[in-house]
Amino acid sequence: MYDNWEELEEAIKDCNKCKLCKGRTNIVFGTGNKEADLMFIGEGPGADEDAQGIPFVGKAGQLMNRAFEGLGIKREEVYIANIVKCRPPNNRDPEQDEAIACMDYLRNQVILVKPKVIVLLGRIALQNILGQEYGITASRGKIIEKKDITYIPTWHPAALLRDENKKIDFWNDLKLAKTRLQK
Ligand code: SF4
Repeated sequence: MYDNWEELEEAIKDCNKCKLCKGRTNIVFGTGNKEADLMFIGEGPGADEDAQGIPFVGKAGQLMNRAFEGLGIKREEVYIANIVKCRPPNNRDPEQDEAIACMDYLRNQVILVKPKVIVLLGRIALQNILGQEYGITASRGKIIEKKDITYIPTWHPAALLRDENKKIDFWNDLKLAKTRLQK
């Protein structure tokens, strides 16, 4: 574990701890306020994110940005990261060995950011952070407290692109996260 951002960023910059290093254009480390109270954790970079080195800049990210705007959440005030920092081929789910290999970086990010609330975006984030026993359908919209952090699982924004009906859940879950910040 590194106790500052410079050392952590230096440690990850040429990472080849898992096979995803082979296909990446950029490592998508994380973005936003490094002292945020509210953090978002997604799954892994897609094509746009891989090209730009920034998480959630593609269509799903734009949808998330619109929800932020509607709820008065400033993207630059939150911190956003993913379970894996390199793009899985053809946007497949990260495999278990890849998620495990990358997890120390994410843990270190959480320790440095010290968020009060973490929104888990989708099943992959939920299960890798809280455990394989959690299902996204049953867990979304729930408040899960662990070690001084409030976790709120919700749909991955990409799921909203496939199913319009999930947008209202997503909106409500983000609203809940915002409310919890005030506690
Ligand atoms: S996904 Fe994570 S562990 Fe794998 S190569 Fe990229 S930075 Fe390293």
